[in-house]
Amino acid sequence: MHGEPSTFASAYAGTDMSALNWAEQQWMAWYMWIDNPVLATGIMSFLMHEIVYFGRCIPWIIVDAMPYFRKWKLQPTKIPTFEDQWACTKMVLFSHFTVELPQIWLFHPLAESIGMKTHDVPFPTLYEIIPQVLLFFFLEDIWHWCAHMALHQGALYKYIHKVHHTYPAPFGLAAEYAHPAEVLILGAGTLLGPLGYCYYTRDFHIITMYTWITLRLFQAVDAHSGYDFPWSLQHIIPFWAGAEHHDFHHMTFNNNFATSFRWCDRIMGTDKNYLRYVERVKRMRASNVRATHQELMAMEGKLMSQFEAAGAEEEARVCAKVGATKKID
Ligand SMILES: [Zn+2]
Ligand SMILES: [Zn+2]
Repeated sequence: MHGEPSTFASAYAGTDMSALNWAEQQWMAWYMWIDNPVLATGIMSFLMHEIVYFGRCIPWIIVDAMPYFRKWKLQPTKIPTFEDQWACTKMVLFSHFTVELPQIWLFHPLAESIGMKTHDVPFPTLYEIIPQVLLFFFLEDIWHWCAHMALHQGALYKYIHKVHHTYPAPFGLAAEYAHPAEVLILGAGTLLGPLGYCYYTRDFHIITMYTWITLRLFQAVDAHSGYDFPWSLQHIIPFWAGAEHHDFHHMTFNNNFATSFRWCDRIMGTDKNYLRYVERVKRMRASNVRATHQELMAMEGKLMSQFEAAGAEEEARVCAKVGATKKID
């Protein structure tokens, strides 16, 4: 990354290189090499998003291709085909290049105007990053619950959020499969926390933002994975939502509107149908202890179809209220 003399180097005048770690030195070299902070931040942010998002999806594509993992698939009869995944990838890429790229480009001027540290070194410490990221998870989850509830009403659902509900049995890549307006509405929840924090404290580094967005992308992709493993996070942190929670939302259309945590839906009572389903599965398993795995799967599949059909009816009612209804797949 070292080459032509950089005019941006003056931004680092007086920086003690020997006090910086390897990553901080590379960060500094990146900004000096690009020599234009708007471009340097823009390219870095865009690449970070693409690498993290698609990078996190790859393991799930492999899992979907391996029958060994089927026993942990939440809706075991609905395995996405290669065509499904490719169609979804194309739509997500289209949205990244048309909707997100211009926004990412505008991000640096906005960040500078509220005093966000971008090219600055050294980076914040983990002691600074961790509590901030936890706060953003908390705030985003509340925003997501409210906005997602709104997106399930009338025209907002029919013309915007229905796109995301194309897949009743989601897979990792479907996390960002959404109408551009939804990307803006729900994306605001991811950005407003850090921007507000930065505005009030005037002490916030873009590295904290990248850490937060990376973890939020992991959370979103994993929640759409369609798999619930014994080692999945929700079995370790009981209030973590995970795939088991969000898969039900896609399967039945109603219930479970939050994204990272379970508490918003619990407090607001928007998980009653989900809890009823979980209870019925538990009872079914308890009263059929001698049944084979295949038999249990068949019984659970029947129960799933009932809940799914009820959800499809409700979805049709919401769309019908807005005018001519579209047939639900
Ligand atoms: Zn929804
Ligand atoms: Zn979803």
